[in-house]
Amino acid sequence: MEKYDAIVIGAGVIGTSVAFHLARLGCPRVLVLDRTLIGAGTTSQSSGILRTHYSVIENVRLAQASWAVFNDFANYLGDGEASAGMVKCGYMIAAPEGPKLAPLAEALKAQQAQGIEVRLLGRSEATSLLPIARFDDAALIGYEPEAGFADAYLVATSFARAARHLGVKIMEGVEVEELLLADGKVSGVRTSQGVFHSDTVISTQNIWAKDIERWTGIPTPVVPERHSVLALEGPQAYTFKMPVYKDLGSPGMLYCRSYGGTQMLVSEGIVGETLPEPDNEQGDISMDYMVDIGEQVAQRFPSFDEAGVASSWTGVYDVTPDWNPVLGRLPDVPGLVVGYGFSGHGFKLSPAVGLVLAQCALGLPTEVDITPYALERFREGHLLTGKYGLGAVS
Ligand SMILES: Cc1cc2nc3c(=O)[nH]c(=O)nc-3n(C[C@H](O)[C@H](O)[C@H](O)COP(=O)(O)OP(=O)(O)OC[C@H]3O[C@@H](n4cnc5c(N)ncnc54)[C@H](O)[C@@H]3O)c2cc1C
Repeated sequence: MEKYDAIVIGAGVIGTSVAFHLARLGCPRVLVLDRTLIGAGTTSQSSGILRTHYSVIENVRLAQASWAVFNDFANYLGDGEASAGMVKCGYMIAAPEGPKLAPLAEALKAQQAQGIEVRLLGRSEATSLLPIARFDDAALIGYEPEAGFADAYLVATSFARAARHLGVKIMEGVEVEELLLADGKVSGVRTSQGVFHSDTVISTQNIWAKDIERWTGIPTPVVPERHSVLALEGPQAYTFKMPVYKDLGSPGMLYCRSYGGTQMLVSEGIVGETLPEPDNEQGDISMDYMVDIGEQVAQRFPSFDEAGVASSWTGVYDVTPDWNPVLGRLPDVPGLVVGYGFSGHGFKLSPAVGLVLAQCALGLPTEVDITPYALERFREGHLLTGKYGLGAVS
């Protein structure tokens, strides 16, 4: 029986970030447990897009604090060799006349009010940045030059490595089977490799967060939802210099980015396929789906009309009713802190979320106010629903 100051369940990009921050804040004995391998959950399936654009202002704050970390990653981790694999190509988001226009204008203004560099582009300026796309229907185009994409798996393994440097113990291939309570308070976990004691447990289990409900009886409003990502091989280069593009005018609210060379990574930003059980194994991608996405892409990128599918994969989102995470303590179980429900946009928030969950676990004031992300919001009706409708823009 081993005793720790904090135990983190899950070694995805959120759990490894929490572990690193716990150690950096001076928590001496931290244990991370993962049933599989570091980053092998949904983190390895991420498209990796980093932006601060959100229509929910709380998310803007978390994304902004996270961006500062991504931008100075090696220094922040104290590991000169660490890399987030960042490509700072900018993020462009456009809407035609219609229901997405007012929310876009409002969200861009809110970002600027937060001190984030965001510019409004004319159609010709947009064309010069992303010459392979057409903008003739765009009524409003926002551009965040400091945004881009990075590598979520690399970030998770870098957080893990930096955490280990600070003395954190990470055990892979260990499944947590039960949360142990004594007098109603957290006292540890029972696992496939025995019992580990701690008064503080942080669950970052993503689509497997329903375990919390099984262990504590507290409702965990999270649904596993499968999404597909395609890498299309086009005739024209989508270079690393060209911005990520969010197409609010397409039926699937597509996001597109360079995948190197003449390849484009593309996926939808709307509701996906609900799974009966959490499972991040690869699912089928139907030919109809590929044709549908191909047609939407060709509408925006005419030369991709002839594009072929170079590769494809599925990934699973941990979706909550308002498509935003649950962060913080569960007051009915003292000692338990949770971070789940990232609904397809948790990578870009992972540095700040790791910091605030670590601060919360240690009873410190949090860098960014996480009260709005409390589980109680679902009972009290204070949802954090984004203004673009359900989908991972939030
Ligand atoms: C297709 C796709 C595209 C995405 N694109 C983007 C994007 O462009 N930008 C963005 O910001 N976000 C994106 N996301 C979301 C982002 O990748 C996730 O929010 C983030 O990676 C989740 O990290 P996590 O640590 O919460 O979960 P995970 O990486 O899933 O980690 C959870 C871990 O917990 C472990 N675990 C669970 N239960 C137990 C247990 N009982 N015992 C032991 N271990 C356990 C699992 O093994 C797993 O390793 C995308 C997600 C997907 C699927």
